Amino acid sequence: RFRRIELKEQPKNELTEMGAAFNDMITLLESNHEKQEQFVSNASHELKTPLTIIESYASLLKRRGLERPELFQESVEAIHSEAIRMKEMTEQLLLLARNQDSWKIEMESVELSELANGSARAIRDAYSRKVDVRAEGEVHAWTDSRRLKQLLFILLDNARKYSDESIVIEVGRKPPGVYIRVIDRGIGISKEDLEHVFDRFYRVDEARGRKTGGAGLGLSLAKEIAEAVGAELELESLPGVGTTATIRLQPSGTRGQG
Ligand code: ADP
Repeated sequence: RFRRIELKEQPKNELTEMGAAFNDMITLLESNHEKQEQFVSNASHELKTPLTIIESYASLLKRRGLERPELFQESVEAIHSEAIRMKEMTEQLLLLARNQDSWKIEMESVELSELANGSARAIRDAYSRKVDVRAEGEVHAWTDSRRLKQLLFILLDNARKYSDESIVIEVGRKPPGVYIRVIDRGIGISKEDLEHVFDRFYRVDEARGRKTGGAGLGLSLAKEIAEAVGAELELESLPGVGTTATIRLQPSGTRGQG
């Protein structure tokens, strides 16, 4: 798409080296451009699906809503849940579209047990799911509390979507670090899929078949948040057994000591 500098077979000198560097830059630009295009195209496609469902239910209501009240409940529920899905997707897209460098990160000492209990409560209240918190007393990490909450929420949301049993959040120390871990006993992820779940828009087929829809953005966002707040994110999973997601963090109080 961009014009490159033609490099004839010449003795190597500063000018030909500059030309080669310029061409490398063009290659990089083109690949970023392609990625951007792919992102926009995937995003539009993912947003179109719920929008199509909303449109068809709305038109059904418009035509038959008055004469067939039993359609009403079903249509409104579908419209509502698809609208929520679109809202979540848009929020994730907005975060991903913004350059990570421009995220405002505020590092501070965060007490993980309290954070875990707060998030567990949110999932219990919103989805009536059993969430147990196991914590070794107070555990302090050096991180951004708002972002960490976001990250934990993505993991809890997945545990809820892809399992039916109770979810466990574990908070503990593993010197030199500390960790917070979400454990579910759900459908699990195969070894092959595990290599891709952090890619944008990647969803395992089984997940696609489930009613709970996402766009495959959660974990890619989780990975970026982890990077931004100085955490490591690791996923272990066995199909049919369950998934464990671990966030490893720096303990607070040891910053600056390596
Ligand atoms: P989604 O919005 O589809 O949940 P994610 O990026 O969060 O997107 O996850 C990507 C895919 O990884 C999911 O579609 C699902 O197939 C799989 N996955 C993620 N978390 C779990 C889990 N806890 N158990 C089983 N599968 C999971």
